[in-house]
Amino acid sequence: MIRPLIHYGFHFIIPLLIALCFFPKQWKKVYIIFIGAMLIDLDHLLANPVFDPHRCSIGFHPLHNYYAITGYFIMLFFTKTRIIGLALLWHIVTDQIDCWMM
Ligand SMILES: [Zn+2]
Repeated sequence: MIRPLIHYGFHFIIPLLIALCFFPKQWKKVYIIFIGAMLIDLDHLLANPVFDPHRCSIGFHPLHNYYAITGYFIMLFFTKTRIIGLALLWHIVTDQIDCWMM
């Protein structure tokens, strides 16, 4: 009961707070990028079943594996991709917290 609440709070509420606190002038753009980072969950469509509450995404799905995560980390080093990288890593952290709570 509490697990999905925390999970979606981390996916939707905390990014809004991050955007408002750290990027007050362009919080809308930053928030949209954070929400857009959820598109990497499209890789779940390759799995069978598509949704399994007892499966950890990290290391399982192609856009949640360690190569992809390394790529998201590298994005932090370039100004143009920094916020996207941050949003993607936040998504990964949120999914990882969900795995720990299983
Ligand atoms: Zn995910």
